[in-house]
Amino acid sequence: MTLPSGPSADQWAAAVAAVRSVGADDEVLLICHVNPDGDALGSMLGFGLGLRRLGFTRVHATFPGEFTVPGPYTEMPGLDLLVPEAEAFADPRLVLVFDVASESRLGGLAGRLAAPRSVVLDHHASNAGFGGVRLVDPDAAATSVVADELLSRLGVPLDTGIAECFYIALATDTGSFRFDMTTPAVHELAARLIATGIRPGDISRRIFDSGPFGAMKLTGEVLGRAVLDESAAGGRGMVWTWATLDDLDRHGQPPYVLDTLIDPVRRVAEADVAVVVKQTGAAEWSVSMRSKGAVDVSAVAMTQGGGGHRLAAGFTGHGEARDVVDTVRRLLDLHLT
Ligand code: AMP
Ligand code: MN
Ligand code: MN
Repeated sequence: MTLPSGPSADQWAAAVAAVRSVGADDEVLLICHVNPDGDALGSMLGFGLGLRRLGFTRVHATFPGEFTVPGPYTEMPGLDLLVPEAEAFADPRLVLVFDVASESRLGGLAGRLAAPRSVVLDHHASNAGFGGVRLVDPDAAATSVVADELLSRLGVPLDTGIAECFYIALATDTGSFRFDMTTPAVHELAARLIATGIRPGDISRRIFDSGPFGAMKLTGEVLGRAVLDESAAGGRGMVWTWATLDDLDRHGQPPYVLDTLIDPVRRVAEADVAVVVKQTGAAEWSVSMRSKGAVDVSAVAMTQGGGGHRLAAGFTGHGEARDVVDTVRRLLDLHLT
């Protein structure tokens, strides 16, 4: 098996050519994944601000599904580029896609890939391979690393707006510079971003250390029902919990407050694998998985039509929460590393 590697010189050149091939007044559409996180929004909006600096006048940014920007990101620069899916350019000259591992994560916007030019910027090892020009670097800590490189090849200098977007993307996907992919290059990029004058303390407080009282109460309840199964994952252990739409309702919270719930769960020392099963429909669940190394959870997710990274992945599950977890438990044993 050959190791995955980043974009080739030809791919970078093709991406630059794709952007330069469209006129400043042509319609350009940027798309990130459904239920966007800090990297999806940050890489997309930061790049959109860069296109503006290049002189592009008609830039839309969007994502499929419910048009809600999670609370932590409601002050991100570039939000004025954002339009609901239904209002996004129907027939753009150029489409750029950010942080999307599979076409299914583009929902009803997947058809826009048929635009005359399309460029996919991503860092998921599981990336399914779609779109015209593919800038997929599985070694990149965040999609914003790829977006920063493309802006730099287009000759766009960083400003505070672009830098804040890319910093949020980098900080969220590296778990605040804690995960393994936090390489010297990641810190060098962070240094360049901070050098523009952005304030990491303010940004971190906003995106990591702030949330409504109801979200805290909801988290407390959901963590309180967590289950530890020490025999799962070949004896390395699995800890899991679930949250229903009724839980959200009772605490008056939107679904995105559960996006970071996996973090306290994965701290449990007795388990290698952490799983959070979040209800999204009558019998539909968004499944988040993390491993400390015993299991390739991306491989587990891919068997269920999802994806992600070796130690952090997700998929959409169907049926009862317990059935979804039983499926995960069974698959863990098949994907021990
Ligand atoms: P999450 O648990 O939602 O934070 O997601 C962890 C990782 O898995 C992220 O890199 C996601 O992009 C990826 N991921 C989550 N859900 C899916 C899905 N349904 N399809 C593909 N990738 C996913
Ligand atoms: Mn993402
Ligand atoms: Mn990402």
